[in-house]
Amino acid sequence: MPTRVAIHSSVERIFPPEKLQSLLSELDVEVSDDVAEGTASGDAGDFDAVVSFGYEPGFLEADLDWIHCVRAGYDEFPLDALRERGVRLTNSTGLHGDSVGETALGFMLQFARRLHRYRSDQADKAWNPPTWDEAFTLNGESVCVVGLGTLGLGVARRADALGMDVAGVRRTPTPVEHVSEVYTPDELVGAISDARFVALTVPLTDETEGLLGAAELDAMREDAYLVNVARGGVVDQPALVEALRSGDIAGAGLDVFAEEPLPKDSPLWEMENVVVTPHAAAATVDYADRIAALVRENVRRREAGDSLTNLVV
Ligand code: NAD
Repeated sequence: MPTRVAIHSSVERIFPPEKLQSLLSELDVEVSDDVAEGTASGDAGDFDAVVSFGYEPGFLEADLDWIHCVRAGYDEFPLDALRERGVRLTNSTGLHGDSVGETALGFMLQFARRLHRYRSDQADKAWNPPTWDEAFTLNGESVCVVGLGTLGLGVARRADALGMDVAGVRRTPTPVEHVSEVYTPDELVGAISDARFVALTVPLTDETEGLLGAAELDAMREDAYLVNVARGGVVDQPALVEALRSGDIAGAGLDVFAEEPLPKDSPLWEMENVVVTPHAAAATVDYADRIAALVRENVRRREAGDSLTNLVV
């Protein structure tokens, strides 16, 4: 039986659902808001699989055997419930090393070359050269990359290419290309305390929630910048606001937040030493093509009875 795939409208947060549908036109795919309701013909239980951005309880009511999440982070998905119901979850890790890697280095370049400041001044037509000791180069500076998976390696490779000294934190302290020193999570404070930049690239799990709290921020250099392209929950956000206000750290490039969209009354919006981006680090025009390739491969595997790639549960 060919796999019948629903494309949930939540994917429109990244690309139009119809774009993915047309890329997968050789398969039996349909855009559906309500997977439990089945296809437009109205037969419940019509779909075998759904491709989605987020999770809906309706997914468990439908007779699905596979959910594909179009993001790398799957922290919103109820893994135990899926396991219990025998529903497989696959994610999209492996796709974002270039996009998020470039965004993370973009944050670092902005701070080093002060581009964020000039862009703000431009709104006021203000010609404000930097003070003599303000600008620096990434070449010769250090970064500690926390989490050395797809994103972390994307950051490490680029930082190394720009002449930075790259340290990293990973659970197994084996050598990693482009990383001169690898630390374990229990060595986090020591690993980040010497770095000019700390880049967070870990998934949000019970272990990483609040990983960067007041003590870690305090251990960072006063001229250090935090780059968070992972998940907002990895950082204790009130502690970060306090560290930025009090000058415990020099600034932050933030793509992800405790609450998204970032509430209008968040002090982060107005801090001169903070660059806020709208969870956009992974955005690329070819995102749907890459998802289509992953889905196509897993449909092939499902029909062949092989194990799925990027399987989470
Ligand atoms: P990945 O699975 O390829 O890599 C994650 C790495 O983190 C793995 O190597 C894992 O071993 C490591 N890790 C887990 N817990 C750790 C810990 N306590 N200490 C150190 N390392 C730890 O995933 P990825 O594709 O690199 O994505 C990582 C996370 O980044 C995702 O889960 C997602 O939340 C986030 N993300 C954000 C964006 C964005 O748009 N900002 C895009 C993609 C991914």
